[in-house]
Amino acid sequence: MKVMEVKRIQIAGGELLTPNNPTIPFIAGDGIGPEIWEAARRVFDAAVRKAYADKRKVNWFPALAGEKAFRETGEWLPEETVTTLKKYLVAIKGPLTTPVGQGHRSINVTLRQKLDLFACFRPVKYYPGTPSPVKEPDKVKIAVFRENTEDIYAGIDFESGSAAGQELLRLLKKAGLADRVRFPKTSAFALKPVSSEGSKRLVGAAITYALEHGLHTVTLVHKGNIMKKTEGGFKKWGYEIAESFGDKVYPMTHYENTKNEEGEAIAQRQLVAAKQDGKVIVNDIIADNFFQQALLNPSAFDVVATLNLNGDYISDALAAQVGGIGISPGANINYQTGQAIFEATHGTAPQFAGLNKLNPTSLILSGAMMFDYIGWVKAARLIEQAVAIAIGQRYVTIDFAQKITDAHELGTREFADYIISKI
Ligand code: NAD
Repeated sequence: MKVMEVKRIQIAGGELLTPNNPTIPFIAGDGIGPEIWEAARRVFDAAVRKAYADKRKVNWFPALAGEKAFRETGEWLPEETVTTLKKYLVAIKGPLTTPVGQGHRSINVTLRQKLDLFACFRPVKYYPGTPSPVKEPDKVKIAVFRENTEDIYAGIDFESGSAAGQELLRLLKKAGLADRVRFPKTSAFALKPVSSEGSKRLVGAAITYALEHGLHTVTLVHKGNIMKKTEGGFKKWGYEIAESFGDKVYPMTHYENTKNEEGEAIAQRQLVAAKQDGKVIVNDIIADNFFQQALLNPSAFDVVATLNLNGDYISDALAAQVGGIGISPGANINYQTGQAIFEATHGTAPQFAGLNKLNPTSLILSGAMMFDYIGWVKAARLIEQAVAIAIGQRYVTIDFAQKITDAHELGTREFADYIISKI
């Protein structure tokens, strides 16, 4: 038997080092996971072959999680899988069932926490031909950076009437805040931790992305008008980290300062000059207004940085504008350690499992993002172009076919075949 040398993607001095034959773990996932994974993997291998002939090839390595793991090991997320993901740094996954019942947390959330994947990165863009509910979906090209490890999602929940809830009430009484709880006897509580470190690393990653991709704005989306310490803190710390990028960025706090000290006309001139110099403009917007503006004037936004809950809503709302969850790719990344998991953003759609019907594009485009991330840019572009051709020619899966006229409806497998034929 030929023993394959194990090659790992590694990080050194902040740079990812990708060997020509990297081992990349994959979690096929539950429900429709295995069939969309198989479709996506064939597309990935075809793109790498076309881009690099025999010079490069991924050694896909199966990692266990979800229902299959539970059947085989009694655990939803075996420790061995976490070790494997840590060892190989970059991985890709299909959707996983969230176990039902007390004490079970989502496997995705657990993975994000165990690997400290602090940024949920979702680039949202439109592929012409995709059915969309809005008039000008092509105006949406927004990269969303959602903080992944803090906020109300930390899972610090106290049930109504619980001892911990009552203890919290006692604390509130001491602080003179108890009267802010309208119905103290029956209130449930949740805590919203937001830190300077957590906010700064997320906003820093968003600004770095904008700089690396020649984008014009990074917008901090928050509810600092209401939650002054947490969401307001995110905004404050976001602007602080923007300062550390020096003259590569123009934070709108500079505009405000100039306006207050020297008048609006001079501030305007400063802003125009910053834009002409190609600086990234860092601004902010209240979350509810962002939802309006993202519908009315989406081209005003390039990169969005936001906390966990806002980011959850925002990424799905933007995805809906460009065709929904069947097509939106995503990744969870720690930009400091290099650790990353690329993933389909939809769930397991169990009622369609094994039917060869649903859309593998979310996972396929997540793979393109992964190739970009590891520096295999040519393979990434080939995948994106082939997906664009298939959708543009209306060769699509049932979810799109039902919404467009003259569609050629294909099964999951056949859709992948069609994409491969265009690579
Ligand atoms: P879901 O995303 O699985 O399905 C909702 C609906 O979206 C489906 O009925 C289908 O109509 C559509 N859909 C989903 N994927 C599609 C695709 N690839 N192509 C076309 N249409 C698609 O959401 P759900 O039913 O709420 O959740 C099912 C399971 O998935 C739950 O256990 C949930 O916890 C889990 N889940 C996992 C992830 C993840 O692993 N990232 C994300 C969301 C939900």
